[in-house]
Amino acid sequence: MPESAQIKVYGRCRPLTQDEADKGFKTVVKCSGDKMLIESGGKEHSFSFDGAYSSDAKVKNEQIYKERCEPFLQRAMEGFNVSIIAMGATNAGKTYLMSGTDSDPGIAPCFIRNLYQAIGERSNKEFFISVSYLEVLDEKMSDLLNPHVNQMKIRQHPHKGIFIEGLSEIVVHNWEEMSQLYEQGTRVKKLGARDIKANQARAHSVFTITIEQRTRQSSKVGVRSVVCLADLAMGEVVGTSDPHAVAGLQGLMNVLSALGGPKKGSNVPFRDSAITRVLQDSFGGNAVTLMFAVVSPVDKVHKESLTTLQYASYAKSA
Ligand code: ADP
Ligand code: MG
Repeated sequence: MPESAQIKVYGRCRPLTQDEADKGFKTVVKCSGDKMLIESGGKEHSFSFDGAYSSDAKVKNEQIYKERCEPFLQRAMEGFNVSIIAMGATNAGKTYLMSGTDSDPGIAPCFIRNLYQAIGERSNKEFFISVSYLEVLDEKMSDLLNPHVNQMKIRQHPHKGIFIEGLSEIVVHNWEEMSQLYEQGTRVKKLGARDIKANQARAHSVFTITIEQRTRQSSKVGVRSVVCLADLAMGEVVGTSDPHAVAGLQGLMNVLSALGGPKKGSNVPFRDSAITRVLQDSFGGNAVTLMFAVVSPVDKVHKESLTTLQYASYAKSA
């Protein structure tokens, strides 16, 4: 298996919230062309990405979707595996980017709507679509579409690749059904029993859409593609000595380091943490991957933002 996937990386800095503005917080992140610039530790650090979106509140999620994600929907329809990943520290704006609000729908709802539009345009094809929604917290996996399931194992299928045994995979027939499941799982994630700030800061989630298409009245084998929409926690592990908590965050950082960072060329430790095993094909397989490095503009969290941009730049050099 090739160890470098095609990864496109974009920077996204959210605007100050009203509360932050009222408190007089300063902004330390700005964009210049495709670069993200951040003041941290008395220095200005610059990172070049495939594109950058500043904290300008006028940039809506839909615009980012159209400019960066829509071509990836086309790839998925052609049979490629596609991953769209938002990576960042807690409070950076990942959920806002992926899920959005009613007046500013995020990348996932835009993708879902456009997927069914694309399907509608291909009346000569039959589609079989299913979804799953996984959360990984401190190496423990849970099913966001069925909170009663708790015994899940990562397995490898000779043809289909990595899959999670026990995770419910729900067949959907239209965009309403898919949107509903996405929203339902996202709510569980937000409001679940484990919604403690410290947990949120370490929780990863992956919404997976499996698309199988076949030409009507054809005996040919169909085309199968897997789309992962992921929300990945990034940040320093503070205030815990739980080795699982450390593994859950450090695993992703170690993989990015080995793909394009200081440890480039060394064996990529996908197997060392659950989330990197789950996303192994996104980072090192045959998937086309789009990553958003999502950061807060606030001076107070400059270190976390710097870490996110640093690791995202490793992904870019993968
Ligand atoms: P995360 O999921 O990374 O923890 P959130 O998506 O919850 O962060 O965002 C943190 C805060 O910033 C929320 O109050 C959210 O509404 C706000 N926010 C994030 N991105 C934007 C944006 N592009 N425009 C306006 N507000 C945003
Ligand atoms: Mg979030």
